[in-house]
Amino acid sequence: MEDCIFCKIIKGEIPAAKVYEDRDTFAFVDIRPASPKGGHTLVMPKKHYELITDISDKDMKELSLTIKKISKALMKYGKGMNIIQNNKKIAGQYVNHVHFHLIPRFPNDGVDIEKWSVNKYKEGEIEKVAEKIKNLLK
Ligand code: 5GP
Ligand code: ZN
Repeated sequence: MEDCIFCKIIKGEIPAAKVYEDRDTFAFVDIRPASPKGGHTLVMPKKHYELITDISDKDMKELSLTIKKISKALMKYGKGMNIIQNNKKIAGQYVNHVHFHLIPRFPNDGVDIEKWSVNKYKEGEIEKVAEKIKNLLK
């Protein structure tokens, strides 16, 4: 993809703080970390795909291994870690090259990813939702 900033970083056309690269995957430090302690790292396939649903099975397998590898380092960098992956603008995706955010966590780091508002299902609704998702798996 010609205009993709992450493709340009992967090709070395734009500088980035790279932490890992292999044949199919790439990881670098996010320029705007979620916490002041930093370490927030982006992990992605080298090939340009927009959404998680676009990635080939083979690239997804390679990517999960790289995510695990970087996670091991970030679990030592911080005290815990969140993994976030945004698909489409409505979900907060601003760069359309699929990527995983690996965010190391620290005490009182001010990051509130896991504190989404908690809602309730009406009686019988949760089963209907499960049925709908199961049908969408087909
Ligand atoms: P998204 O919102 O698409 O899931 O996340 C895009 C992420 O890419 C953001 O966290 C943003 O800080 C990061 N980012 C955008 N442009 C650059 C860049 O040029 N270099 C680096 N290192 N990170 C970037
Ligand atoms: Zn790209």
